[in-house]
Amino acid sequence: MCLLLLAEMAQAAPRRAAGTRNLLVVMVDGVRWQEVFMGAEAALMERRTGGVADPHALRTQFWREDPAERRRALMPFLWSVVARQGQIFGNRALAAEVYLTNGLNISYPSYSETLCGVADPRVDSNDKKPNPNVNVLEWLNRQPDFRGKVAAFAAWDRFPYILNAERAGMLVNAGYEPLRVAPQTPALRLLNRLKSETEVWPAEPLDALTFHTALEYFRLHRPRVLFLGLGEPDEWAHSGRYDLYLKSLLRADHYVRELWELVQGTPGYRGATALVLATDHGRGESPENWREHGRRIPESRSTWLAFLGPNIEALGERKQREALPQARVAATIAALLGLDFAGSVGAAAPPIPDLLAK
Ligand SMILES: [Zn+2]
Repeated sequence: MCLLLLAEMAQAAPRRAAGTRNLLVVMVDGVRWQEVFMGAEAALMERRTGGVADPHALRTQFWREDPAERRRALMPFLWSVVARQGQIFGNRALAAEVYLTNGLNISYPSYSETLCGVADPRVDSNDKKPNPNVNVLEWLNRQPDFRGKVAAFAAWDRFPYILNAERAGMLVNAGYEPLRVAPQTPALRLLNRLKSETEVWPAEPLDALTFHTALEYFRLHRPRVLFLGLGEPDEWAHSGRYDLYLKSLLRADHYVRELWELVQGTPGYRGATALVLATDHGRGESPENWREHGRRIPESRSTWLAFLGPNIEALGERKQREALPQARVAATIAALLGLDFAGSVGAAAPPIPDLLAK
């Protein structure tokens, strides 16, 4: 009996050690599934269609004849690490769509659908209104093991409303808002200053400022759940700059790698952290409408998702499966940590069924 128990414990221990204890959730605004799965699009790498300043230089950087090499040139971490060790959903060319159901295909309702697990018709604009729905980050912050250990950093200044920071009682640092938590390190002071001295878009700073603020916070406070929201690809696309859209997406991929490598070098996080990578909405698919998204561009409902972590099977690019509602992301985030969001928040969609290793 005793020996049997010991044998069982010996078997159980590595399984527990292989579980997910911490999470990185990264969302990059308005990134099309077309670029993620097929790389840079030839028709848009031009002055006329894509507002490209130097088409020759852009093609040298991002164009490859082979689509697999092309997408790796654009998102090297996604295709060299996540695709080998994790899972990627949303390649419509393989009938593997991920889709929104809010019908609006704009950011606030789409982030809300993703993080609250439900498309709520009351959430129908990008206005600065507190979200009536409970999101999974806030819900995690209320679980005993995660209290005070959930933090969100986002470029877009709507995130304190989307995540209802006031009700959630967790740190949500967004837009040009300085991060005032102690200790104020030299890096944080400089980042706060750069936010006050630069302005590209009224509602969000450059992603570098948001990313490095999040990175410094992680080093100082080691949150167990870190959300990072990047915004440049959407801004550059709306500006009609395909070159800057691609470059900011490549930079986002580098940022995800840097975060991943930082956690893998951190005791307590190494081998015990999962990554969720997503976008809020897609965009138009033609040279005429790729800049935009919304109700009048139905194809902008199509998104993509990627997962990497200790209890995620290395199935790579998922093919020929049923279309996957984006609303399943919220409960999937909780399920990665062994928690049941959908069972607790009735309106939320259930987790993705076949993501986790048995
Ligand atoms: Zn947009």
